[in-house]
Order: sequence, then structure tokens, then C-alpha cells
Amino acid sequence: MSEKNQPTMEEIVSLCKRRGFVFPSSEIYGGLANAWDFGPYGSQLKKNIKDSWWRFFVERRDDMVGLDAAIIMNPRTWEASGHLSHFSDLKAECKKCNERIRVDQKLKDEDNAYFNDKVKNINDAIRNGEKTAIGSEDEIDGIRKEMQIKLNEYCACSKCGNKNWTVPEQFNLMFRIDYSLTGSENSIAYLRPETAQAMFVDFLNISNTARKKLPFGVAQIGKSFRNEITPGNFIFRTREFEQMEIEYFFDSKKSDWNIPFDGLRKDMEKWMDAVGIDMKKVHAVDIPDGERAHYSQRTIDFEFEYPFGQKELFGLAYRGDYDLSQHENLSGEELRIIDPETNEKIRPHVIEPSLGVERGLLSVLLSAFENQVLEDGSSRTVLHFKPEIAPVQIAVFPLMKNKEELVEKAKNIFEDLKQNFRCEFDDNGNVGKRYRRQDEIGTPFCVTVDFESLEDGAVTVRDRDTMVQERIKIADLQKYFGEKLK
Ligand code: ATP
Repeated sequence: MSEKNQPTMEEIVSLCKRRGFVFPSSEIYGGLANAWDFGPYGSQLKKNIKDSWWRFFVERRDDMVGLDAAIIMNPRTWEASGHLSHFSDLKAECKKCNERIRVDQKLKDEDNAYFNDKVKNINDAIRNGEKTAIGSEDEIDGIRKEMQIKLNEYCACSKCGNKNWTVPEQFNLMFRIDYSLTGSENSIAYLRPETAQAMFVDFLNISNTARKKLPFGVAQIGKSFRNEITPGNFIFRTREFEQMEIEYFFDSKKSDWNIPFDGLRKDMEKWMDAVGIDMKKVHAVDIPDGERAHYSQRTIDFEFEYPFGQKELFGLAYRGDYDLSQHENLSGEELRIIDPETNEKIRPHVIEPSLGVERGLLSVLLSAFENQVLEDGSSRTVLHFKPEIAPVQIAVFPLMKNKEELVEKAKNIFEDLKQNFRCEFDDNGNVGKRYRRQDEIGTPFCVTVDFESLEDGAVTVRDRDTMVQERIKIADLQKYFGEKLK
């Protein structure tokens, strides 16, 4: 068998469409740019990844609790969190064809560093009282014009080739919605751009009811929405996506933040490995001072080697008590927890592991994918999913579909196994073709009922990865798969 080679995005996108993992959203109407639907196997795979995360980080621990909060929250949430004023990217438009670009993605690294430095100096001066925010606006305008000059110098529009850009401007990434029946001005709300804020806003309700002592974490899985300037690369960057986030609260006076930070880092690495992400392609990148959010004392981006480059997969950040104190200030509620030993009220600090479900799923697919040339010269495509997350764990076949005794026996086995495992019954085409189809959707085992089965009460079990076949007694199948799949 050949060495496992790196798949291309075309191979992944085409397999996803062909086998019903992921296809374009609302395709009969021409689709919607960068919107994708997860089909029969994709939705199951996605669910399995989320379930595995929930089991790993919530159910098997006694220091984590769950939350499932509303997507549309009181808009003051986003005022306090800083999303209304800061959650934006710099956008410029091609003057000829209106193509939009994210400026930081198009400027050269040294120019980005130069402009970041300039903005940082202005912000520092405002903070130190050396300058006023209003007086600095002209300077910021000047920086944007300088950026425009750089773009016009070396950035050709990918659509029309022109080098003629508008002055970059801030573009807020939150989706605004009208949350009233009357459409009045006070009715603007937002689709949440991250799941995290609900875990801060609900802190009192959670800490009062969960009866946990610090340190403890709150976990949530759910949809987030960002009006990204340049979505793309299949499901890597979309405007609607799911996040799996944890806010892990601890008493910063009692515990050095490095302890929970390192613990969660190790857990994230363990989980990525367990779910089948190729750890040789994952790189933990420490984000340097000037590039981190101002409230974060340390951020690690776990980057993955995608076919389109090494990019952020998941993040881990120490956010201090920034969020709780912001919400305290704006809501007037004390978001603190009483230390049962000292009776002191503590506003905890927080470590945040933040994971995108779709980026996780894409890395799982890329890690599992193999185009294999077999010894006889033929080839097959196979997804080497971990059994825990494979959409189908066992496929059951009768050797021939028009032999009633075989079909009946296979159906009985299927009925029995599907009580405990994710199973599929397939009697379509020859067995070789059925094996290939199951390989392509990553099914670890196939069970075939043949004429011998009627005599010896045994079936052929074929292993996806080794393609080795062995005879197993029907009566032993539950035990056999219990050991292999659980
Ligand atoms: P990027 O720099 O790629 O825009 P980010 O640093 O803004 O990502 P975070 O705000 O840290 O991302 O969000 C946490 C996680 O959510 C990311 O690590 C990623 O897995 C996921 N994520 C963020 N934006 C998107 C998106 N537009 N589409 C899909 N997943 C996303």
C-alpha cells in the first residue's frame, strides 16, 4: 500500500458532495455564497464530534457544567463585551468592480507590523492622557490613507486586476437584526458573534445553581454568526458556524493562571488526537504581545496545515477578569462568587478554550482522507475515521439481494447491532462496490452474510483499514464489536 498523501481541497469538496457529507446550501435556487449544508453523513459526523467534545470536557469531569443560551441576547451584552466598538476588520473595496478585501490579509507582514505599531502608539497615548481620542482621529485617517497607498502600490484585485482601492474603513462583523414587530429604532439586536458572552452574563445564575467551588468551567456548543469580509475555503470560514467554548473560572489569588492554562492546553491536545486530528499537522503558536486582544495575557492559536496554508484551527486564551468586570460595570450586578473558607467575594479570572466545529470537522476529514493504491494496482478512497466519530460504524450486507434467506438473516443481524452501534444496511450492487462505498464514508467494519452463514452461523467481518476479513459467529458479534468500537 502507498504512503498516505495530502489530499487537495478539490478531492475533499468532491467527496463531501458525492457522499452527502456537505453540499451547497439551497442549491436549487443557485445556492448562497459560502453557505453549506451538512447532509446525512455530515450531520452525523458533526454531531459525533460535538458529542465527543461534550463527553470529554463536560460529562467525564466534575469541574464543568453546561449551558445552552439564546443566540439573540440583550444588545447591551455587546456594548459591555466591546464587540460593538471593536469587533471589526478593516475593509477596502476595489473602485472598479467593488470586490471587498480584508486589508490585513493583503498588506505585507512588515506593513501590517508598521501600521499596528502606529495605532498602538496612539492608543497608548490616549490611555496615558497624552492625547484625546477626538484629536487622534485625524492621525488614524492619515494611517488609513497610507494603507490605501500601499494597497494601490502592490495589491491587484483578484477579480479585475486593478490596483485602485477605496480608503480602508472599519467594518463591524456583527449581524444586525430587527427584533421588534414595529421596526422602531430601539429594536436593533445582534446575532451572537461568539457563544462565550452568555457564560459571563449568566455567571450568577450558573454559580448559584451549579453549587461548584472555584475552579470550575462552563461549556457551551452553539451557532455563532460573523459578517466576514472574505469568507471562503469551503467550510473553513463561513458567516454562520458552530463553536464549542469553555470559560474556566478560577481564583487568581489562589492559583497561578499558568496551571489551568497548561491543563486545558493538554486536554485540548488530547481531545484533538482522540477525535482523529493529525497532530503532526497541528502547531501551537504563541501570539505575541502586540497582536493579542488587549485584555489577554496569553493566547495560543492551534494552527492546522490545511491545503490552503497553515491557519487557525482552535484558540486558547487567558482573558483575566475583563469580561466579568465589563458586565459588572454596565449591568450594575456584582458577578462574584463567595469563597466558603474566607467569605470573601471573588471575581474570578478565566481561561477560554474556543473551538470551531466546522474547522474541527474539516481537519478531521483532511486527517482521515487517503487515496490508496492497492497491491493489485487498483485504488480506493478511504476515510480512516476513529470508530467513535465515524457516521456509520458497521455496515451489514447480504451477499445477494435476491436470496431471501440471506436478506432475512442480514436484516436480523442489522436489527440486533443497531441497538448498540450506528449501522447501515446495504444490499445494492456487488459486495466489492459496497465495500468501496463504505470505505469512502469511513465505516470501520462491514459484515457480510453469505451462503456459508446459513450453515455455520458465522459471518465475514471486514476491517476498513487492513481490509483483512475474518469469520465471526453471529452470536459473538455484539461482544466482538463492543470491544472494537466502544
Ligand atoms: P480567524 O482569525 O480565523 O478569523 P478568530 O481568531 O477570529 O479566527 P475566534 O474569535 O478565536 O476566531 O473564534 C474561535 C474559533 O471559532 C476559531 O478558532 C475557529 O475555530 C472558529 N471560527 C471563528 N470564525 C469562524 C468562521 N468565520 N467560520 C468558521 N469557524 C470560525
